[in-house]
Amino acid sequence: MDEKEIIQSSKIFSNFKFHKYKHEFKKLVEDGQSPKALFVGCSDSRVLPNLITNTGPGDLFVIRNIGNFVPEYQPDSEFHSTAAAIEYAVSVLEVEDIIVCGHSHCGAISSLFKPSITNPDLVHVKKWLELGEEPKNFIESFGLEKEETIIKTEKYSTLFQIQNLLTYPAIKRRVEEGKLFLNAWYYVLEEGKIYTYDFEKAEFSTL
Ligand SMILES: [Zn+2]
Repeated sequence: MDEKEIIQSSKIFSNFKFHKYKHEFKKLVEDGQSPKALFVGCSDSRVLPNLITNTGPGDLFVIRNIGNFVPEYQPDSEFHSTAAAIEYAVSVLEVEDIIVCGHSHCGAISSLFKPSITNPDLVHVKKWLELGEEPKNFIESFGLEKEETIIKTEKYSTLFQIQNLLTYPAIKRRVEEGKLFLNAWYYVLEEGKIYTYDFEKAEFSTL
């Protein structure tokens, strides 16, 4: 869809579909938002958090970035978009769950297995993808065949991102107090299925 088509489609929402949500949004405006979960997903246009979880307005606080990565806590004066949204979700909205959701056919993950980026127009992409290096190296150490290595990296990268979430003091504190739970998910585009990581069994299984 180009911009003109998106405008046309938006008109269909305003004129025909919004009425279904009218009361819901009125209440959400009056009461304010109080989502119970923070969803950290990939920017990939095929991974739609509300669609794949069958949730609606007010249900999810969402962060999307390339590769559904979470940088470690860095209390400096730089602009940290992902960290700021995490802080807001945890310390203002007081979400009870954080879901880090990886997905199949993730361009960010597969690019970790390609030659290093040299295009100067992608300087921030190159830096950002460093957040996938540790899981990539870990999975590669098992010496599996390439396709399986990529799929496993897509899945298990989410656990590395959860480790990074725990470097945020407010997250660590709330997890220890039993007020916040961290979840690793994997969404398969071609199946429409979500697999969740069971920390006791140490494996992903379907919902
Ligand atoms: Zn992706």
